[in-house]
Amino acid sequence: MSSSLVHTLKHHFLDAFADDDNSVCSRVVPQKLENPRWVSRNDALANELGIDTKELASQASLKLLSGSQISDNLKPIAVVYSGHQFGVWAGQLGDGRAITLGEIAVGQDGELWDLQLKGAGSTPYSRFADGRAVLRSSIREYLCSEAMHGLGIPTTRALCLVDSDSPVYREKAETAAVICRVARSHIRFGSFEHFHHRNQPQALKALADYVINRHFPMWRNDTERYFKLLQNTVTQTAYMIAHWQAVGFAHGVMNTDNMSILGDTIDYGPFGFMEAYNPYLICNHSDSNGRYSFKNQPAIALWNLNALATTFSSLLPREQLVECLQQYEPQYLEHYRQLMATKLGLQNYKPDDEHLINDLLALMEKSAVDYSLMFRRLCDFTPSDTRIRDYFLQREQFDNWAKSYFNRLSLQALTDTARAEKMRTVNPKYILRNYMAQIAIEKAQDGDYTEVNRLLKIMQNPYDEHPDAEEYAGLPPDWATDISVSCSS
Ligand code: AMP
Ligand code: MG
Repeated sequence: MSSSLVHTLKHHFLDAFADDDNSVCSRVVPQKLENPRWVSRNDALANELGIDTKELASQASLKLLSGSQISDNLKPIAVVYSGHQFGVWAGQLGDGRAITLGEIAVGQDGELWDLQLKGAGSTPYSRFADGRAVLRSSIREYLCSEAMHGLGIPTTRALCLVDSDSPVYREKAETAAVICRVARSHIRFGSFEHFHHRNQPQALKALADYVINRHFPMWRNDTERYFKLLQNTVTQTAYMIAHWQAVGFAHGVMNTDNMSILGDTIDYGPFGFMEAYNPYLICNHSDSNGRYSFKNQPAIALWNLNALATTFSSLLPREQLVECLQQYEPQYLEHYRQLMATKLGLQNYKPDDEHLINDLLALMEKSAVDYSLMFRRLCDFTPSDTRIRDYFLQREQFDNWAKSYFNRLSLQALTDTARAEKMRTVNPKYILRNYMAQIAIEKAQDGDYTEVNRLLKIMQNPYDEHPDAEEYAGLPPDWATDISVSCSS
């Protein structure tokens, strides 16, 4: 891979922002890792990117993708951004531990994807931190980004993961890892906020033009291009959040610097998937006020879009900013309702279905029913089936709900078998529960990477049956409740 990849890597960002004073982006050199070794390579993604899997497995690729040896013709960069963290303006941030190697042209139409090394050492934006990432958080990001892709949710991807003997100090001594993150864009809401808050409208316009030229070339000469760009971010964010809510994903750190301009899920930290249904779920140990609780995510996304729209005020009149923002709620609700209807096996969402969805969720909350397990079992639910009924403490209330549900299903011309089959394509059998990642992490910390690779395969196909992995298809073990995930990574 090293030869073919190196020749295709370019930096359109550098062309857009030729910059020597580190105010926008900086050329950086990744730091070497001690004894780098593969934890995992994602051959499925390599194939999608047109990267030869044998070359990916080579020593040259290991050196390149661990940041240990970068050939002269590559010009790795780190990029500045700012952002609001937990609702407060945080000022300048940036790629403090992410180094973009360049862009790779993918497929027939040559769509560009960034190859970025996360944890490859300090950059001018690292502030006082070390630019590294520990193995445990890297495994979580590696597996979860692929799990989200497997679930059909827009996300950054992960090409490979390298472990090392380089020490990293967090609460205790750990080892450094590098993940190769792959994304169509790493531009964040915070990238726009950076220039707006520095009162640099020309740089902000250049950033907007860069995003349009790279991702929406058909709008390049359109007088409405900035409106279309903002509108697109609103729409894609609404779509992404609807997916998060429907699958039961909590991101944990929805700061504006962790929101992609393309509406991809980005920056996996203390995320969590819903287990016992609790809309107030807070998966980030450091989020004591629950700003980023599961239930708050749709509203927080709008808050973040507001912050983004504010930065467009030098490009668009106020009415157009408002017009874009007003599209968020109806689009979010439409996507969410459609996704939930599909999870219930309904061919179309009808206004009355809102009760069916909300009543079920309310009952699940009262009985702390496992979210994914419940929906997967619902695929084969029949009026005589007591397995699901037994999950609920309020059996009579559940029976009433089930009656309405079967009445609603009977309005459709769909056999039970066909419905079950369809439902199994939207209700995953496997989600990346924290305890599963924890098992893989603990084994990996002992030098055994097999569970990371096993989970990768399962999570890439979460709707399929994996007969060898039945142990991961049930309820989490009791010890899972003690796992607490912080921002420390
Ligand atoms: P996060 O909370 O991971 O989204 O990171 C917030 C900001 O802190 C970003 O600008 C990161 O680049 C930076 N950051 C986080 N961890 C590190 C680290 N270990 N070294 C350098 N910068 C970091
Ligand atoms: Mg971040």
